[in-house]
Amino acid sequence: MKLKKFTYCNEFKCMAEKCPESCCQQWSIFFSRHDYLNLRNAQCSEELKKAIDKAFVRVNGNNAQGLNYAVVRLDEKGICPLLDDKGLCMLQKELGEDYSGYACRTFPRLKTKIGGDTYICSLDMSCPKTAQLLIAQREGLILTEKNYDGRDKLLNSGIYSSPAVSESWEGFPYYWAIKDTQIYILQNRRLTVPERMLVLGYFSQKTNEYINHKEGGKIPALAQTLKNNNDVWGNIADSLKPDQSRESYGVKSVGIFAKMLLRVRNKGKNHLKELFGIVADSMEITFKSAENKNIETSFNSEKYLEALAVYEKIERERSYIIENVLVNLIFPQALSEGIWKNYFIAAIFYNLLKTCVPAFLPNDFNDEDLALAISRTAKMTVNNELIKKDALLDFLDNRSYTLPYAAFLIE
Ligand code: SF4
Repeated sequence: MKLKKFTYCNEFKCMAEKCPESCCQQWSIFFSRHDYLNLRNAQCSEELKKAIDKAFVRVNGNNAQGLNYAVVRLDEKGICPLLDDKGLCMLQKELGEDYSGYACRTFPRLKTKIGGDTYICSLDMSCPKTAQLLIAQREGLILTEKNYDGRDKLLNSGIYSSPAVSESWEGFPYYWAIKDTQIYILQNRRLTVPERMLVLGYFSQKTNEYINHKEGGKIPALAQTLKNNNDVWGNIADSLKPDQSRESYGVKSVGIFAKMLLRVRNKGKNHLKELFGIVADSMEITFKSAENKNIETSFNSEKYLEALAVYEKIERERSYIIENVLVNLIFPQALSEGIWKNYFIAAIFYNLLKTCVPAFLPNDFNDEDLALAISRTAKMTVNNELIKKDALLDFLDNRSYTLPYAAFLIE
């Protein structure tokens, strides 16, 4: 087997009780049958035994598979009850890392399998430490490949973060030609980040079409043309740049965010609601029911434009940060799920970065503040399955699932 990952992944070390946004909250913390029985049979203090008895629920029915055998019952704030008063995991503290569940041991590592011989691994950006590492890679993310000896405990445990890509997928022979070119496009520093996103949209749409029309053989030539001919890039980006004012960009961006906000208010968990609330308040978003029963959104456009200016300054002065964030996002996406769909998710995320990141930044922010803002935005958007699917459905429903519309989300 081969293992592909970015070099920065080797620098990861969990911040534990120093983490400003612990991951021990708001998600389903599953234990496999093996991990659960291991824990139940462990010799531990009476206090911990009682906490374990109270914390776990056995999964019933069809979901009770090997990996989803038991789940931690979160407290009323959605936080893991197995944290002590300093925010440390009681299982790890008393028994050691081997006694926590696979989800706790592996997060924020993402992995998937490409064909029969390659694993890919990256880190989830909803972890602030991941975002800190992305901010620290000035020269860009570097992908490495090595032989995998099968001995990495973390890589072996848990489930795939994206669906495995089967060799029977019609696009499989071109998988790495597509993925490498996508990364190459996003790392081309001769263009602005929005221009790179536009070229990425063009390439992703073309490759998607080629595969759907059984013309995958054209993909290597397209990739080569893009790599060899720099003039093509500028022409593609120029032809896609939309003619829109900053105000109308704001209306679209806030519209996307507001739809998500409404969903979170109805279905979301506490902490997510809190995060959405901070962004909504920063732009003074309000809703009212119109006569036709639609919900009308209003917001303070001056505040939006101020926030946009903060984001644009970051992108202008340190574009490598946004580049790294986007490269980290697209690398683990399984192309077999839909190249265009993956791109569209990236375009929505890019748009939401501009809306959400400034809301979490103090006036005089440092890199740790910025990392926290990026990780919170990832948690609210691309790491929130419900939101991600619903946001895509909005576009499918209103026929905006097109490259020209994606361009409106970008600049
Ligand atoms: S979010 Fe990241 S740094 Fe924070 S506790 Fe979880 S793994 Fe550690």
